[in-house]
Amino acid sequence: MGHQVCPPVPVSALSGLLSSILNNGMAIYEMGSGATAIEKIVISTIAKSIGYDENSDGFLTSGGTLANLTALLAARQLMSEKNIWENGVKEKLAVMVSEEAHYCIDKAVQIMGLGLEGVIKIPVNDKFEMDTSLLETHYQKAKKEGLKVMAVVGSAPSTSTGVYDRLTQISAFCKKYGLWFHVDGAHGGAAVFSDKYKFLVKGILEADSIVIDGHKMMMTPAITTALLFKKGNDSYAAFNQKAQYLWGKSADAEWYNVAKRSLECTKSMMSIRFYSIIKTHGIEIFNQYITRQYDLARTFADLIIEHNKFELALEPSSNIVCFRYYLEDMKLNELNELNHNIRTRLLEKGEFYIVETNVKEKTYLRTSLMNPFTQLSHLEELLNRICQVTEEIISV
Ligand SMILES: *Cc1c(COP(=O)(O)O)cnc(C)c1O
Repeated sequence: MGHQVCPPVPVSALSGLLSSILNNGMAIYEMGSGATAIEKIVISTIAKSIGYDENSDGFLTSGGTLANLTALLAARQLMSEKNIWENGVKEKLAVMVSEEAHYCIDKAVQIMGLGLEGVIKIPVNDKFEMDTSLLETHYQKAKKEGLKVMAVVGSAPSTSTGVYDRLTQISAFCKKYGLWFHVDGAHGGAAVFSDKYKFLVKGILEADSIVIDGHKMMMTPAITTALLFKKGNDSYAAFNQKAQYLWGKSADAEWYNVAKRSLECTKSMMSIRFYSIIKTHGIEIFNQYITRQYDLARTFADLIIEHNKFELALEPSSNIVCFRYYLEDMKLNELNELNHNIRTRLLEKGEFYIVETNVKEKTYLRTSLMNPFTQLSHLEELLNRICQVTEEIISV
């Protein structure tokens, strides 16, 4: 219940044995024909759940960080007037993203050579969603400064607080100015599978590109990530490259040669980690898993609200819950230090593994309820333990 690492479905973990023994490289079709065909099935299964039509396409790659970079590389190539692949970056391009977004978006922008000014941070509102009412002013300001905004990234959800940005509103803004709309759904894009919670990602099917990690909320072993594009052809834009010894007709959209689209050349057989789950349990398992974990977070939040020693940072919208131990007569820095010490002491005791996060200058304890076997009783026990260690800390 600490970091966003899921317990893998057993059959998916076992599929690792198969892929390690076969050891198919998957750069081009002849290196991993079976896994490549399976990848196509997996991608179209996920695309269908998103609501994308048959023009969509995508591929699997190693991690949300790499997938976000790849999506933004495609955006950069397609949104620029020049062919960046051939000419290099001649414009001052920028990406708008919530100040609460995952740090890998910053990494991607720096790697692309756009500098610090290439990331325009949009402040969050009091619900910790990107404040979309500020997009217009930030956009106009950037324009005045000679920047060309190429994309807006929505977090689904952001990592620290687990809050989903309003994708419909971001999409409307992107349409207005013809910007690329990317959704970082590494953690919770898989909410598309939940009948109960898919409302959280309303508008996701308007996105030009979407990242979903299997190893976060789809119970695959790490690392397994899907990168999807609304227009399948856009998935070839990031690496507009010719490698004659690998493929003959470079201009063709060759879905079966995955290295044309992914940064990776040799690539692990990720598709069977998804496929083994889909084949054995059906996609219904994702619906059940996500719904259960998100429900559990809400019940845990109720428990925290009822408890007179704890304060909730915000109502959880995913399975991430941020809260803190609270004493009325303590100052902010004392409370921050106390909660930091609580987490350290808990880790030292070795029974619970939770993390901490800073939101608007306050230090919170943070749980990601990843394990489908976590019960409310475990969470009651966690709160009891926190009260115990707090007494130990205060009494010293
Ligand atoms: C985990 C996460 C990432 C990074 O994904 P990796 O698979 O760890 O590289 C990116 N964005 C968000 C919102 C995440 O939660």
